[in-house]
Amino acid sequence: MNFNEIKALDESYVVQTYGRNQVAIDHGHGATLWDTGGKEYIDFTSGIGVCSLGYANEAWAKAIYEQAMKVGHISNLFYTEPYAKLASKLVPAAGMAAAFFGNSGAEANEGMIKVARKYSYDKYGEGRAVIITLKNSFHGRTITTLKATGQDHFHEFFFPFTEGFRYAEANSMDSLMAAAGDDVCGVMMELIQGEGGVNPLNQDYVQAVAKLCAERDWLLLVDEVQTGVGRTGSMFAYQQFGIQPDVISFAKGIAGGLPFGGFMTNEKCRAVLKAGDHGSTFGGNPMAAAAANVVMDTLTPEFLAQVTEKGQYLRDGIASLSSPIVSGIRGMGLMIGVGVQGMTHKELKDKLMAAGLLCLTAGKDTLRLLPPLSITTEEIDKGLEIMAQVMK
Ligand SMILES: *Cc1c(COP(=O)(O)O)cnc(C)c1O
Repeated sequence: MNFNEIKALDESYVVQTYGRNQVAIDHGHGATLWDTGGKEYIDFTSGIGVCSLGYANEAWAKAIYEQAMKVGHISNLFYTEPYAKLASKLVPAAGMAAAFFGNSGAEANEGMIKVARKYSYDKYGEGRAVIITLKNSFHGRTITTLKATGQDHFHEFFFPFTEGFRYAEANSMDSLMAAAGDDVCGVMMELIQGEGGVNPLNQDYVQAVAKLCAERDWLLLVDEVQTGVGRTGSMFAYQQFGIQPDVISFAKGIAGGLPFGGFMTNEKCRAVLKAGDHGSTFGGNPMAAAAANVVMDTLTPEFLAQVTEKGQYLRDGIASLSSPIVSGIRGMGLMIGVGVQGMTHKELKDKLMAAGLLCLTAGKDTLRLLPPLSITTEEIDKGLEIMAQVMK
């Protein structure tokens, strides 16, 4: 099918909730994609931080195929090898104690919220269920995670929302103290706010929040759905902030393109949820877990060091364009935000796409770059050349 045929089917039969790019992607290899018309693109999106090993990775595809030919799904009524193996790699790599597997970021955060509320209920009883989140955050699209998201425009239409969220200004302990109270059981935050505009939190602030949580027995919940699994150059972003969270969530990059997510708890919280308290039909699916095992095997310390180096190389490359359109460059590893001035972030994204480079937007004025972690220097150079053409 060509682009127009696909678009016609979408418009006739699909709920129109997305502002899609006017391109139909057909196939890819590495960090390069081709649309249905055969046009080539360098990909700085990885499907919103998901395709960590790029497209058509052979080891990844083979693991999925081989698992599909053994057993594609059986549910958590049975043990299977792929999820058990995955947990044994992921949990030590995160410095946590135990993992729960689900299917998406919002679902992972829902689980994390459940852990915080039940931990507090078990120990202190009712009336201590509030979770403080940060303004400009993004935590998902379910009724609860929308309310956890600290942006007013997500709190429309779908009333009544889940109660028990209070918002604080990022990087302000005063604002956090103003939100504090006897009814609080946890603080949830992204260490680099992704959808909100690629805004890294200050190290001092993050450590002060962790200290306050420890003093008050609030759980520190870190949403690593976008920052996790190698994206920032460490296995998880929190490992570069000098803190040890109680619970972290992960999703996007974990299975390299299959729907997968979950949360991990520390020793203190590993037994909060007991048999029957939580579950997921698809959670820990063998094919998705097999794919995630390939991702985990690829993310060696050497590979992660390359993520840091390639991120620095890309940021330096953008800075050296001395483009009048660039107002600033933020981020860690291969999670990069470029402040845009003189045109909207969407206009810039569209111009880059027309010239053969796919990028994302975030916040009000940020071009967001989340290339596959496996991107080559040659592919980064091609992307930078296109940026130079469009942005000079
Ligand atoms: C993408 C994202 C989510 C939501 O993940 P879904 O898989 O779309 O439900 C939650 N938190 C953060 C930080 C994200 O970037």
